[in-house]
Amino acid sequence: MQDTLHGICRSCAAMCPIVIDREDGVPTRIIGDKHNPVYWGYTCIKGREMVNQVRHPDRLFSSIRREKDGSFTSISSAQAMDEVAQKLKRIIDEHGPRAVATYAGTYIFTYPATQPVSTAWMNAIGSNMMFTSNTIDQPGKSIAPALHGTWQAGPQVFDDADTWLLVGVNPIVAHSGGVPNQNPAKRLKDAVERGMKVIVIDPRRTECAERAFVHLQPKPGEDGAILAGMIRVILKEQLFDADFVRANVQGVDALAQAVEPYTPDYVAARAQIPADDLVLAARTYAQAERGGATAGTGPNMAPHGNLTEYLLLCLMSICGRWLKAGERVPNPGVLGPSFAPRAQANAPWPAWGYGEKLRVRGFTDAACGLATSALPDEILMPGDGQVKALISIGGNPLMAWPDQNKTLKALKALDLFVCLDIQKVHNSCHLADYTIACKHSLESPAMTLPNEMLSYFGTGFGFSVPYAQYAPPAAALPEGADVVEEWEFFYGIAKRMQIALEIKVAYSWTTTSGEPRRYRFDMENKPDTDELFEALCDGGRVPLATVKSEPQGRVFEGEDVFVDGPEPGREARLQVGDATMCAELAAIAGEREDKDAGFPFRLISRRLHHVMNTTGRNNPRQMRKQRYNPAYMNPGDLVALGLKDGDEVRIASRYGEIPGIVEAEEGIRSGVISMSHCFGPDPENPGPVREFGSNVALLSSVEHEVDPYSGIPRMSAIPVRVLMA
Ligand code: SF4
Repeated sequence: MQDTLHGICRSCAAMCPIVIDREDGVPTRIIGDKHNPVYWGYTCIKGREMVNQVRHPDRLFSSIRREKDGSFTSISSAQAMDEVAQKLKRIIDEHGPRAVATYAGTYIFTYPATQPVSTAWMNAIGSNMMFTSNTIDQPGKSIAPALHGTWQAGPQVFDDADTWLLVGVNPIVAHSGGVPNQNPAKRLKDAVERGMKVIVIDPRRTECAERAFVHLQPKPGEDGAILAGMIRVILKEQLFDADFVRANVQGVDALAQAVEPYTPDYVAARAQIPADDLVLAARTYAQAERGGATAGTGPNMAPHGNLTEYLLLCLMSICGRWLKAGERVPNPGVLGPSFAPRAQANAPWPAWGYGEKLRVRGFTDAACGLATSALPDEILMPGDGQVKALISIGGNPLMAWPDQNKTLKALKALDLFVCLDIQKVHNSCHLADYTIACKHSLESPAMTLPNEMLSYFGTGFGFSVPYAQYAPPAAALPEGADVVEEWEFFYGIAKRMQIALEIKVAYSWTTTSGEPRRYRFDMENKPDTDELFEALCDGGRVPLATVKSEPQGRVFEGEDVFVDGPEPGREARLQVGDATMCAELAAIAGEREDKDAGFPFRLISRRLHHVMNTTGRNNPRQMRKQRYNPAYMNPGDLVALGLKDGDEVRIASRYGEIPGIVEAEEGIRSGVISMSHCFGPDPENPGPVREFGSNVALLSSVEHEVDPYSGIPRMSAIPVRVLMA
């Protein structure tokens, strides 16, 4: 039987609405929904190719156990949960709950029930050892607001902005905020056509940079210096929003002092950009009526990522880029609680130095979470608190974590390693004692609450209109399939360990007032995913049932909500002169010029349109152009090195060396190599670079050049040299 239904793509955080054609319940074609009022039919190849993912030969339809001889045995999910629960109980009895850790990869985000239930399970066993991809991706996005404070009414939005600053982010390909994730190419084109002046700071002339009014194309790793230079121009020329600053901002004198060395000529010399362009960027940003600023993964992976994110917030605050009293709230919430904010600051809060203390390198819990880069050492280092068991949820640690050699050693040293995944191709699964076969996103219900909450992760994220969608399961399972949703695994092992689960529902914009709501699981009668969704959306502005009645997704306008004035006597201010960040600015200005001598290139990260981290690499249709991650370089650099497209080289950093296949890219600045993360062969089964690509995590060290708070190592703007293969 053939039919068609609406769904939600969950292959990335954009959560595009899709139309799914099916034959006997099996998806045969996925396209965008051209009638959708927010996405206008947008999809990308990753979403459309899900039809080849649900029944891919690598797909797991039953869980697997790795035997002592390295072979794999298919077992039922019930047996897998029996055995895992028993082993976890023994580990906790012998070593305490801290011996159990979880790692949540990128894919946890679009599954609304997984994070709350896995967290509830960790809380129930008494372990704080929860690690996520946030600390190896964009930790500055969580650290910076803690140091700066937040604006309760939120930022001005892209839709009516006159300028937007994009730092090392290319949302047209990455769907990573800045330009909203809903059809970013059209949104940017429309915005430029109505007069928006886009400012891009990026060593590559990206798709977004093509539309920029000013494109600063610096030497990688200089984002902090450039932003300091822009702030200096704005302060010196008194282009800031004096009224907003007077009422809501503190620390301006300290900021002015910290950016004083960053004159246009100094910044131009160190970042290798024209000084006039820096001044033009600063004036353009400050003189526009409305605007915003967003940094991407690259600047967060580069040195001083916290500082980059912090200076972006400072720039927004001195220019008053926050919603003012009397303005209409663009998105007052749909599945989340109604949002009626005041035009007032939430004061800064501790960014680190509390909670769980790691045994390595002095890390503590932090606004961004525990340092994932320290987890391999927590596994390898003997003694009290040693991590013995790891559960990986929607991630691929062996390919994604920095310092792949140490990661490999650590994963092999575990007493118990469990991967929750949809397919067995992922390299980490080869090392896992158990791989729990999980449902594909099309086989379980979906809703857009995560994307709604993303608004609070960073400026230019989430929905800027009250849009929401719910989608029921859209793909039938084959006869005999034994797959679970990730949250069901945690429920299953909790039941076997005879522990009760409780979810605490706390949205970031409500945490400053009141207790989180609690949802206690019935441990005798398992709820279904819809029941959990109801619990997570309880108190939402629009009932989930109403959203369900509009399967194609809709903008749920209601009565207009306006930003209220500040509470009388409100004293909290946005802090732009944080002492740690000002000290970091001073340290950068004092850096030795020759510190990277011998490494004439800098390797930066990038997204590829056709794959999402390691997902999609086993689909020939997605990899039809090439199976590896090219080392993109400036054509002039290739000529100077006597290289041509397709040549193999070795790329060496201070800490490691990888092979690379070079490819010329017009628009990449000289001295830069740009490669995508999460490629490369299984390190225990090396394969040709032209087949598997290279793992750039081998170029990073988790012990050197590491951020002291998030633990993120230098994973972009890495000083490297090119050697002939
Ligand atoms: S951008 Fe692509 S992968 Fe992301 S949700 Fe949309 S279709 Fe899916």
